[in-house]
Parts: sequence; structure tokens; C-alpha cells
Amino acid sequence: MNIIKGIREMQSCSEAVRNNGLKIGFVPTMGALHVGHLELIKHAKSVSGYTVASIFVNPKQFGPSEDFDNYPRQFENDADMLAKEGIDILFAPEPNEMYGDGYQTFVEVRNIQKHLCGQFRPGHFEGVATVVLKLLNIVKPHYAIFGEKDYQQLRLITKMVEDLNLDVKIQGYPIVREHDGLALSSRNRYLNSESRQKALSISEALFQIKQEFDSGTSDADTLCDMAREILGESSVDDIDYISIIDDKIIEPKKIASSGDRVAIAVRVGGARLIDNIKL
Ligand code: AMP
Repeated sequence: MNIIKGIREMQSCSEAVRNNGLKIGFVPTMGALHVGHLELIKHAKSVSGYTVASIFVNPKQFGPSEDFDNYPRQFENDADMLAKEGIDILFAPEPNEMYGDGYQTFVEVRNIQKHLCGQFRPGHFEGVATVVLKLLNIVKPHYAIFGEKDYQQLRLITKMVEDLNLDVKIQGYPIVREHDGLALSSRNRYLNSESRQKALSISEALFQIKQEFDSGTSDADTLCDMAREILGESSVDDIDYISIIDDKIIEPKKIASSGDRVAIAVRVGGARLIDNIKL
């Protein structure tokens, strides 16, 4: 595995790979890798002949009071994990390589960013769309893999690629969970055992909503109230949202139907955790 830190070097490497007729699969990450990330990597390897992962903690997608400074960084460990997976390139630029002096261009995907995390993290999705567009222009992949764990992000990027006619296929990958249901996340490192126990109520609430929906309840308020109760009982610190949304346009629904997503964001033990499930 080669580690590339420069944009030009990455672009010429990708150009050469493409000229050799290989398909490039790409998995962008912010590092602090876990088994969920590795599943995305394995999937990328299965659909392409050349695999690139990136590690970049993107300052533009964090708000001023968010966890950019504290975000877990463990580059050596991550690089070892990626090398063991047998990827070809780890692209790991420094912030000043990605955003030079006077940087001023941002991508806005207007509607998909309106609800859910968009309401609680102003500017977050412009930061995400912008960095992903830049990464796609740098890595030039044929396939880019994103987790359904960040479902709104997956839909936002899919829309950006469609609207801007980018020549890349975006693939979603199902949420990878711990044995007890907790969705894997780099931010789970913030949890001690007590707050991890509370965080378990997120997936419990989602599974419960799905069960209730499957047995005939479709009123969104009723379903969300049920989840609110489960989260309340486990005394998470705060609930940002519990919402049932259309899976493509990411707009809240009053009556849930099959294929919709239930999305939850809560604050627990100093972490902001998100999770979702398909109905
Ligand atoms: P991050 O490093 O958190 O930005 O995540 C990088 C990629 O991994 C994103 O596409 C995430 O959606 C995906 N990802 C993170 N956690 C999981 C998980 N538990 N299951 C599936 N994909 C995940």
C-alpha cells in the first residue's frame, strides 16, 4: 500500500491506473477506523481492480462548537489496518493541501440538507458535499462507497453526483452493527460503559419502531413517540431528532410507508450519535 499526501500525485496515479484499464474503487473516511469502514473497503475491493481509501478529517464539515479538535486521530493504526486489507493507495492530505489560502468554493445540495442533521449542524452538509466533490476530482474513482449509517449524507452525495453529472457510481453499504445492535461509529470511542449502555437504546428504539410498523402502525407521530419513550427511559442526554423520512428526498412523513427510513440523532456521554433503519 502506498500513502499519498499530495493532490497532484494522487491525480496522476489515478490517471495512470485508469489508462491501464483498471476500475478504481474509493472509500472516503475520516480515520479512526473500525470494522464498519473495513466492510466498505472489502466491498470496494469486490467491485474494482484498484482500491483507494482516504483519511481526511475535514475541518469544513465541523461547526465551531463541534468535535473537530477532539475527533479521534490514529493514523499509524489506521494505515496498518488498511494495509492488511490489501488496498492499493491511502490518500491522506493535510488540511492546507485541500484548502489553500483564500479557499472560497462550496457546494450546496439545497433540499436534501434541509432536515435532520442539516437543522442541527449548520454548514455541515456544504462541508461534506464540497470535500466529497474535491476527493472525487482528485481520486477519479469509477465507484465510491458510502455507508447507509450516514443516510442523509449518502443521499446528498448521490444527488450531487446526479445533478453535476459526475462520472462515478455511488454505492451505499448497509449499516454494520455490534452484536448487541449499536451501530459502529468512530464516535463510540467517546462512550464509557455507562453511556454505551444508554446509547444502545438508539438501535433498540429503531428496531422497536420497525416491529411496530410491521405489525400495522403507520402514524409517524405514534411511532416516534414510542422511540422517544425508549430513549427517555435510558436517559440519553438529549434527542436532536426522531424522524420518519422519505428515503430519497429526505423529507419527514406523517404516515410511514414501506421503504421509508427512520432516523435518530441523540447526544449521549459527550457524543452525538446517529443511526437509522429502513421500514
Ligand atoms: P466516517 O469516517 O465516519 O466519515 O465514515 C466513513 C464512511 O464509513 C462513511 O461512508 C460512513 O457512512 C461509513 N460508515 C461509518 N460507520 C459505518 C457503519 N457502522 N456501517 C456502515 N458504514 C459506516
